[in-house]
Amino acid sequence: MAVTEQSTRDAFFIGGEWVKPATDKRFKVIGANTGEVIGSVPEGSIADIDRAVVAARAAFNGAWGRTSGAERGAIINKFADAIEKRIPEISAAVSSQNGMPISLSSQLEGAYVVGLLRYYANMASTMQFEERRPSPMGFDTLVRREALGVVGGIVPWNYPVVLSILKIGPALVSGCTLVLKPSPGTVLDSYIIAEAAQEAGIPAGVINWVPGEREVGAHLVAHPGINKVAFTGSTAAGRKIAEVCGRLLRPVTLELGGKSAAIILEDAEIAPLLEGMGFASFGNNGQTCAASTRILVPASRYDEIVDAVASMAKSLKVGNSLDPETQIGPMASEAHRNVVERYIATGKGEARLVAGGGRPKNVGNGWFVEPTVFADVDNKATIAQEEIFGPVLSIIKYKDEDDAVRIANDSDFGLGGTVWSKDSLHAQDVARRVQTGSIGVNGYMLDINAPFGGVKASGMGRELGPESLNSYLAYKSVYLPAG
Ligand code: NAD
Repeated sequence: MAVTEQSTRDAFFIGGEWVKPATDKRFKVIGANTGEVIGSVPEGSIADIDRAVVAARAAFNGAWGRTSGAERGAIINKFADAIEKRIPEISAAVSSQNGMPISLSSQLEGAYVVGLLRYYANMASTMQFEERRPSPMGFDTLVRREALGVVGGIVPWNYPVVLSILKIGPALVSGCTLVLKPSPGTVLDSYIIAEAAQEAGIPAGVINWVPGEREVGAHLVAHPGINKVAFTGSTAAGRKIAEVCGRLLRPVTLELGGKSAAIILEDAEIAPLLEGMGFASFGNNGQTCAASTRILVPASRYDEIVDAVASMAKSLKVGNSLDPETQIGPMASEAHRNVVERYIATGKGEARLVAGGGRPKNVGNGWFVEPTVFADVDNKATIAQEEIFGPVLSIIKYKDEDDAVRIANDSDFGLGGTVWSKDSLHAQDVARRVQTGSIGVNGYMLDINAPFGGVKASGMGRELGPESLNSYLAYKSVYLPAG
């Protein structure tokens, strides 16, 4: 897809075919760099979700439900091949919709996704789904891990491809089928991934896509044909989904918001810190759930580090997300920029502005905001407690390491975080004390082979790593009577 052209789609990928939507309603796709319409796609309705769930159920009850792990592994590898060919198309679609710098989308929404699928392909091919276990009671039991069934997957707009693959990968390994509901904010990429699935020969109905608004997502969550919900999005929506799933006793994983801390220890070196913060704190223009946006600085080095972080923020290249040199692109939508700007206005009343705070000049009509840094922030302030989801950092002074850990843990959230020090072992000790689902030492990058997820209001359950399979498989014991 050339991003200079309008991208118009007229169908949904359901049951292995491009099918006509149930209604004539459509979404306009607005480019984050320009604020102009760059495409349009049909808007999914309840009837479209119903049709997709029927297709996913038929696939699960049919041949797909009887495939071996090795067969599924081979198909996942073909899917990786088909996505690999499309990386430039995928990254351009993502960056033009949500403002992610293309240098990042070509990696995290491209190469990373391909590596992740190959990782899952290998897991499917090698994993034992059944074990014959001798019992001390004198007989054997077949301990099986069986696919839960049809998965309802709901994803946000900030990393739409990788967050979808985080659900597709373990579902395919396990033998589940899926109905995915992309966010209205990023829909074009889901069409490219569906084309790749079709080219890879993923059997009809195994993955179905219906982009829609939240009511359509709510219908999917509560649908009687769904066996498990995999949700990534805001904590507010996650709470509602958890309530519904609780009532239905439906397994659910929730990957939610964050307000993570960067703990800068007294011996931290400035140059690697500033370089690492480019992704760890400002990655995807701050539209990253696990971003370290509370910067905890020792009193002994406070002025030096405040100056350095402010200078770094001012030096970041803000511009069109499709320019490979761009470090900070626009916010994903006008509505989202309004939210970020409201937080900046609140911050001006709560703390000392040391960088940014306005709209950058000469970058066009997109939804840009300047990389912004506040110093002298109280950890109780709104800008330190609430997720802003933009390029806005809060610098908080701490007295000693115990104080730093206390401040880091004084948050409703617990998703990511970082510790910065010349002494990696010492930083690891501090990392162990932070209540969070993941934390990086002198940098932050999700390891495909390690579980990722949140504690507290950041969610429940884990994606990535072998642990991600736990929520797509159920144990079954088949007792084999002696003799
Ligand atoms: P959002 O919660 O508004 O929407 C996310 C998705 O859920 C969208 O597809 C939306 O249509 C759908 N949705 C919303 N309410 C729903 C409901 N009641 N029932 C069913 N579906 C519903 O979030 P967003 O603004 O699109 O994304 C940003 C949020 O996602 C941030 O809070 C961010 O931290 C979080 N996030 C978390 C992770 C993680 O792994 N923990 C990763 C990325 C983003």
